[in-house]
Amino acid sequence: MTFLDLQRLRAEGQAFMEMISRESYLAYAGLKKTAELQPIYEKYGDILGEEALDLTLDAFRSTAQDTDDRRSAQALLEWEIETQAAKPLAGLDEREIEWENSAVIHSPDGRVIQYQAAPIEIANTSDRALRLALDQARAKLVKEEHAPMRLERLQREKEYIESLGIDGDYNASFEAVTGISLDALATSCERFLRDTESMWDDTLPGVLKKSLGIKASQAKRADALALFRASEYDDAFPGNEMETVMRRQVSEMGIDPTADGRIIFDVGEREGKRSRAFCSPVRVPEEVYLVLRPHGGQSDYNTFLHELGHALHYGYASPDYPFEFRWLGDNSVTESYAMLFDHRMQDSGWLLRYTSLGSNRVGSFLRTAGFEELHFLRRYCAKLIYERALYSGEVRWSELPDLYVSLLSKATGFEYDAADAFVDVDPRYYSARYLRAWQLQSVLNEELTARFDVDWFRNPSAGPWMIGELFAQGQLDNAEEIASRVGAGTLSIQPLIRKIESLLA
Ligand SMILES: [Zn+2]
Repeated sequence: MTFLDLQRLRAEGQAFMEMISRESYLAYAGLKKTAELQPIYEKYGDILGEEALDLTLDAFRSTAQDTDDRRSAQALLEWEIETQAAKPLAGLDEREIEWENSAVIHSPDGRVIQYQAAPIEIANTSDRALRLALDQARAKLVKEEHAPMRLERLQREKEYIESLGIDGDYNASFEAVTGISLDALATSCERFLRDTESMWDDTLPGVLKKSLGIKASQAKRADALALFRASEYDDAFPGNEMETVMRRQVSEMGIDPTADGRIIFDVGEREGKRSRAFCSPVRVPEEVYLVLRPHGGQSDYNTFLHELGHALHYGYASPDYPFEFRWLGDNSVTESYAMLFDHRMQDSGWLLRYTSLGSNRVGSFLRTAGFEELHFLRRYCAKLIYERALYSGEVRWSELPDLYVSLLSKATGFEYDAADAFVDVDPRYYSARYLRAWQLQSVLNEELTARFDVDWFRNPSAGPWMIGELFAQGQLDNAEEIASRVGAGTLSIQPLIRKIESLLA
C-alpha cells in the first residue's frame, strides 16, 4: 500500500463513488437484479479504513473555519464517516435491494403486486375498502420482512458511528461534522407545527370530505396516498408529453437540458425499475442519469421536475473542481435546486405555460398545491423530530413504533401504521437536508424573481446565471452560505408559512 494523502484519497474516492453509483443505478433502474456493493468496498479498502478516517479528521481539526481547506476537509470527513458506516452495512443493503426487487404483495382481490409498485397501486385504488385491505397486506409484509432488516441496519449504523468517537453520541457526532444544529432545526419544526396547526385543522376535513368522502377522524395514511394522487387534474399533465415539456422549459431559460449529452434521460418502462423517479450521478459532471417511469399526472410532473433539478446541478458542476466539491458537501444544496424546479408546480405562470390546466382551473389547483405543501412540510417536521428521538437512544427501539405513530399521525391528521416506523426513516438525517432545502429554494426563488422577473423559468438569461452562480459551484458552499451569498441573511421556515397562506387564500 502506498502512502495515503488527501490527493490519493480524492482520486480513489471519486473512482469508488463512480463504481458504487453505477451499481446502484443499474439495480434501481431494473437493469440488474441486485447491486453488488461489497466487492467495491473491498477493492477500495485502503481509502475506507482507520488511516483514511484519521487523515480526514486531522485535516478537519487543523484547518481554519471558513476556508476552502476547511470546506474540503469537512466534506471529505463527512463522506468518510458515511461511507465507513455504510461499509459493514453493504451486505444488509444488498439483501434489502434484492428483497425489495423481488417481494410481492397478494392483494385481497387476487392480484399479485410488486412491493415496489404498492404505493402507486394503493394511491390508484378508488374503492376504499380495497385500498385499506391492500395497505394492510403491505403493512403485514413490511412488519414481518422489511422492518426487521431496516431495524438491524439502523442499530448497526448507530453503534458504528458512536464507536468512532467523533463526539458524544450519534446526534452529537452528526452535528459536529455537518455543522447542522439538530436542536435548532427541531425547535423550528415544533414551532412550524404549532403555527400551522389551526390552518391545517381548518383545511383537512373539507378536503377529505370533498375528495374521498371520509371524515377526518377516519383518515389513514393509505388515504393520504390516494388523496395526493390528485387525479382530478391529471388530464392536464399527460405522461407522453412530460419529457418534451420539461426539455422545452429548460431550453427556454437558456439551458441545454442534456448538458451537452452529459444528462441521459432513462424514461422507458422496465420491470424492476423503481416506481419513484431518481437521479443517478454516475460521473459528475460527465454522466448523469435521470430515471423515471412516466405515468403522467401531477405527482409524476412533480418528481420529474425535482429530479431534473438534481440532474442539471450535477451535469453542470464545474469539472475543474476537486472531487469533494463536485460530489460531496451539504446535500441541502442539491435538494434546494431540485425543489426550486418542483415548486414550479405551485407557480401559476409556469402551470399556464407548460400544462393544459387553463386559467379556469389554476386557482383551485394552487389551493390543492398549498394544501399538499402544508401536508408535506408538517410530515417532514414530524419526521425530523421522530428521527432525532430514534437516534438519541433515549427511547427504546421497541417503543419507537408507538412514538412514530403518535408524532406522524398528529402532525398530518392521517393515522400512520406502526409497521413503517423503521422503514419511513431517511438515512443519515436526510430529512434535515430536505427541510433546509425547502427554506433555501424559497430564498432562491425570490432572488431569481428579483433578477429575472416572476417568469424567470422562461427568461433566457436566468439559466446561464443559474449555471454560473449555482450549478457550477457544486456543493462548495453549504445552504446557509448560499442564502447569505444571494443576500437573504439566514435560512428560516417562516417565509414558507406566508407562501402556503397565499396559496390557500
Ligand atoms: Zn431530491
